[in-house]
Amino acid sequence: MNSSKIIDGKVVASELRQKIKTLGSDFIESVKSKPGLAVVLVGENPASQVYVRNKILQTKEVGFISYEYKYPENISQEELLNLIKKLNSDLAINGILVQLPLPKHIDSVKVLDMICPSKDVDGFHAINVGKLWTGLDALIPCTPLGCSILIKRELGDISGANAVVIGRSDIVGKPMSSLLLKANASVTIVHSKTKDLESVCSKADILVAAVGVPNMVRSSWVKKGATVIDVGINRIEVDGKKRLVGDVDYENVIGVAGKITPVPGGVGPMTIACLLLNTLNAARAQHKMDAIKLDSLF
Ligand code: NDP
Repeated sequence: MNSSKIIDGKVVASELRQKIKTLGSDFIESVKSKPGLAVVLVGENPASQVYVRNKILQTKEVGFISYEYKYPENISQEELLNLIKKLNSDLAINGILVQLPLPKHIDSVKVLDMICPSKDVDGFHAINVGKLWTGLDALIPCTPLGCSILIKRELGDISGANAVVIGRSDIVGKPMSSLLLKANASVTIVHSKTKDLESVCSKADILVAAVGVPNMVRSSWVKKGATVIDVGINRIEVDGKKRLVGDVDYENVIGVAGKITPVPGGVGPMTIACLLLNTLNAARAQHKMDAIKLDSLF
């Protein structure tokens, strides 16, 4: 059985962070101020706490300033919106990230829309979404941006490739599809209402799974030699032990795919590295400097 090439997201993310650190120090030297990222966390969600801790740690590691805003679950929507307004007008803060999910009594769309688009390092604001789809320079959601970097690094030119994205969320599926389209792939988006997923997926040269269903993509869904990008992060229990698995049945797909990202250690590490890239690009834009060209990063 032929084995797939494992795309090591940890290694690529570490190289990317190193480049961001170097580009960041050039930026600091030129404008005499450090990029600042505000991270807002509401409540005690354990997964969110881990994500935020890692984001803060890695922000500091590349030499940027991290501003932390932690609030109890019962913060009112008005208080949160007032905080965002304050952060929008604070010149020391170049990027604002509100960790999702927010508690049910808070309208996430309202909060995300309050973030100034030029500081929207998650790329969720409607202005950035519109810019991405119309081909303008935008802050791009971190996870699909990380996937695109892995794909570009592994495959180079993907013009004309058949790409299938499983999942149509605003955070992953839709922006991922837009980025693949921008790179001239022929893109099909599938979701929970799609008929015969297996048949659609098995024609993909590039298959991106962003679903949230453990091990859903079986080996029969994957074309021999295809590149498989597994975005899923699912916590399951096997023989009483907690395990993290993706949306792809990794053990069985590994002999079929040409290249595949593991979970953990594939897409995950790229997400935070791309957050740092967006923070630097936001700071550059606020100083009237061009965004860093992705091609210059690898
Ligand atoms: P959402 O729940 O927002 O979206 C899931 C998508 O998958 C929806 O479009 C849904 O379809 C589709 N879907 C669900 N079940 C099926 C099914 N049985 N068959 C086909 N399609 C299905 O999730 P996210 O996009 O936010 O996240 C997806 C996964 O990626 C999760 O595991 C999440 O934890 C992970 N993730 C990982 C990140 C990382 O850094 N690595 C970052 C963000 C997310 P429909 O629209 O019809 O409901």
